[in-house]
Amino acid sequence: MLKKNPIKVLSHCRVCRASQPRFVTDFGDLAVTNQFIANVDKQAFRQTISWHECRHCGVVQLTDTPPLEQLRHEFPWLVYREPEGHLDDTAADLIRVANLRPHHRIVGLSQDDLPLLNRLETGTVQLLNPVLDLGITCRHYGMETVQAQWTVDRARRLAQNYGPFDVMVARYALEHAHDAAEFLEACHEMLVPGGILVIEVPDCSQAFRDLDVTVVWEEHVLYFTERTLLQGLSAAGFETLYFQRVPDPLEDRLVWIGRTVHSTKADNSTSAIVPTDADVGRFAEQWPQQREAIRAWANGIRQDGGRLAVFGAGHRACTLIDIMGLAGFLDCVIDDSAEKRAYCFPAGGLPIRGSAALLDREISFCLFAVNPGVEDRIVSRNSEYVAKGGSFVSCYPSSSRALRLR
Ligand SMILES: [Zn+2]
Repeated sequence: MLKKNPIKVLSHCRVCRASQPRFVTDFGDLAVTNQFIANVDKQAFRQTISWHECRHCGVVQLTDTPPLEQLRHEFPWLVYREPEGHLDDTAADLIRVANLRPHHRIVGLSQDDLPLLNRLETGTVQLLNPVLDLGITCRHYGMETVQAQWTVDRARRLAQNYGPFDVMVARYALEHAHDAAEFLEACHEMLVPGGILVIEVPDCSQAFRDLDVTVVWEEHVLYFTERTLLQGLSAAGFETLYFQRVPDPLEDRLVWIGRTVHSTKADNSTSAIVPTDADVGRFAEQWPQQREAIRAWANGIRQDGGRLAVFGAGHRACTLIDIMGLAGFLDCVIDDSAEKRAYCFPAGGLPIRGSAALLDREISFCLFAVNPGVEDRIVSRNSEYVAKGGSFVSCYPSSSRALRLR
C-alpha cells in the first residue's frame, strides 16, 4: 500500500506570493536522484515530494524541497545538457525583438547562458562570474546553488557596480528557483527600466496530459505550462514580447522574451483566481492507479520467471522506480556510462550494469527511461538481445514502444 503522509501546506506561491496554493498530490518519500551510492551500507537522502498549484498564477510547484546541501553533488561527470539546436533562431529573434544595437549591454546568469550569448552578433555580452559576482564558494555546484545566490540584494549591488543592463538571459534557471518571486525581482534590479529578460523552461503540459510521473524532480521546484509561465511572469511584473515552443519528443521547451513593466511588490492575493489545470487534476487522481497497474505488470513478469530492468540511470528512472514502487521487481538499472556503473542507483540501491547485462542477466523486459528520441539507436545497438526474445518497452506514453497497461 502507498504510505499516506499528512497533507502538507505551502503558505504562499513561490512565484506570485499569493496565499494558500491548492494541494494537488503527494508522491511520497523520494530519493534525491543525484545521490549515487558508493557504499552499499548507505542510502540516498529521501525527501517527501508533493505538489501545490497556485490559485492565482496557476503554477504547479513543490511543497517542500530537499536542503541545498543534499541537492549539491560532487560528481564532475554528472551534467545535465540542455538542447541548443534552436538557439540560432532564438538569437536572431532576440536581436529583432529587443532591437539590439552595438551599445546595448547583455548579461547572462550562468554558464548555461553562454551558448546563447555567444550567438549574439551585436551588443556587449557579460557572463556573471560564479565566484566574484554570485559568491559561490563550492567546487562542484549546479543550478540549485546559482538560484540560491541570485537574490535582490546581490543583483542590486551588481547593478550598482556594473551599471544596469539592457538585457538579461537566464535559461533553465527559473524552474529551479526555490523563491521565484525573489529570483524575478532580482532580474528587475539588474535591468534598466523596460529592460529585456530572456527565460527558457521545460514545458510540463505533455507530462501532465500523459500522466508521466517522471516529470517530478526534486531539482525542479516549478512545473510550467505555456499558460502558467505567461501568468507567472505577468504577476512578476513582466510583459510578454515573444514566445516560442521548441518541440522535443520528451518535453517541449518554452522560450520567453519580455520586458519589465512594474516591480513585483503588488499583493497578488487580490488578483483573479485562475481555473485549475484539468490535466493536473486528472494526473493527481490517476497516477496511483497507474502505479498499481505497472506493479501488477512487473509482478507478472516475476511470477513467469522473467527478469525486468530499467534502461537509463538518470533522474527520470530514479523517480519512476521510486514513485511506482518498482525497486523490488528490478534486476538492475542499465546504463553504459562507466562512471555511473561504479555506483549503486539512488532508488532502491539497485546495481547499475552495462547493456551487456541484457543478455548476461537474461533480462526479459527492459523498460526505457531515456528520451524516446534515442530509443531506436539503443535498440539497434542491442539487436542480439531482441533477436533472442528480449523486449524493449518505454515508460513514456509518447514513445512508439510505450508500455500500455490499460
Ligand atoms: Zn502564484
